[in-house]
Amino acid sequence: MRVEAVCTGCSLLCDDIVVEVEGGRVKKVLHACAIGAKRIESALEAERALKPLAGGRIVSLDEAVKQAAEMLREARRPLLYGWCNSVNEAVRLGLELARKVNGFFDGPMSVCHGYSIWYARMKGIRPPKLDEVLDRADHVVYWGCNPAESHHRHASRFAVFPRGEKTPEGVESRSVTVVDVRPTRTMRIANHRLIIPPGRDAALAKLIAGELSGSRGKPSEAGVAEEEFYSFIESLKRSTYVVVFYGLGLYSAGERSGVEGLYELIKVLESSGVKAAAIPMSGHYNMVGAVEEALSATGYPYAIDFSGGQPSFSQEQTAVKLLSKGEFDVVLVIGSDPLASMPRQAVSGLKKSKVIAVDYQLSLTARAAELVLPAAVGGVESGGTATRMDGERLELKPFLEPAGCSRADEEILKMVAKEL
Ligand code: SF4
Repeated sequence: MRVEAVCTGCSLLCDDIVVEVEGGRVKKVLHACAIGAKRIESALEAERALKPLAGGRIVSLDEAVKQAAEMLREARRPLLYGWCNSVNEAVRLGLELARKVNGFFDGPMSVCHGYSIWYARMKGIRPPKLDEVLDRADHVVYWGCNPAESHHRHASRFAVFPRGEKTPEGVESRSVTVVDVRPTRTMRIANHRLIIPPGRDAALAKLIAGELSGSRGKPSEAGVAEEEFYSFIESLKRSTYVVVFYGLGLYSAGERSGVEGLYELIKVLESSGVKAAAIPMSGHYNMVGAVEEALSATGYPYAIDFSGGQPSFSQEQTAVKLLSKGEFDVVLVIGSDPLASMPRQAVSGLKKSKVIAVDYQLSLTARAAELVLPAAVGGVESGGTATRMDGERLELKPFLEPAGCSRADEEILKMVAKEL
């Protein structure tokens, strides 16, 4: 049997995937890239979390849920962490749960693209839909990101190769620029390659804005090669619709000025008569949704502290920083592997806490957890809505039954909340 599916391998959420299913197993995945196919096939992996575990011992789901509720209820300072790999409905339940246990709600968004998503929303900027980019953008800039490695189908589905209404020749109708600190695979498809030293993104954005508004600076101020820079500027001036897709490279050295500089540049482009927009290239499939759900429920994007009853927020108090100080005694981790990705100090704080892992795989964090609640694979075994990098909400189309004792994130969260 052939079924249609939405891939949750990255924030592009490709909705043209076809999966051949036979006897409840995936036989073939069509149209997906290698990352997407791996995600879909992960439902079959040996490293799958299939049974609830407490202290390494298999227990019933009811028992594990009761224990999770008890740990959260008795926690002095609980952290509820993850959410970027969960559907919007689960994020909403997570926020309610955090409120109920006076916990701290956060996830990778606080050290990733959360700030840029929030910054754009604060300024009232809504990104264009990817279909509009396909139809109309004649200059695409990849800045501090490398989709050839991270979002394989970005260029072929939307931004570079396909033919659109105002880009009838596809790649021939578009200019492609890549800005990065080193040569990347994405540069192979670029007309302009701007290599800058780390941390010079804001300087480059300012330099480009200056060129467009008539106040010339020196390319050396941003550390960019002169010839490449001016050839890019000429091409930019001939463009009618510029879209900048940006990655974490813009945050080099932990600076946010790169993101702010980029949005200033977008304003300058617009005032010079060129239509322009910027879209963050988040990796996790629902980081945009997680931030938007948090904003709509509390007015804050991430790092939301419910310990005083009412939600509060400080950009300086993220889960990573507070874990480094050993602040949390119980941590519920959902769809994330902080032991494998956080800095050393935060990891040692996490190791001192009791961890409840809700995950479809036995990640490093799940293996070290006190309690494991096996989750269904989002988009494969469980549905709900997720928000694409451009803000488009898509309904996932699960096509397999959850394996073993696994359950959808929402179901697990509802069961725990009921026990509280
Ligand atoms: S580009 Fe992303 S969403 Fe599309 S198939 Fe690949 S991993 Fe999946």
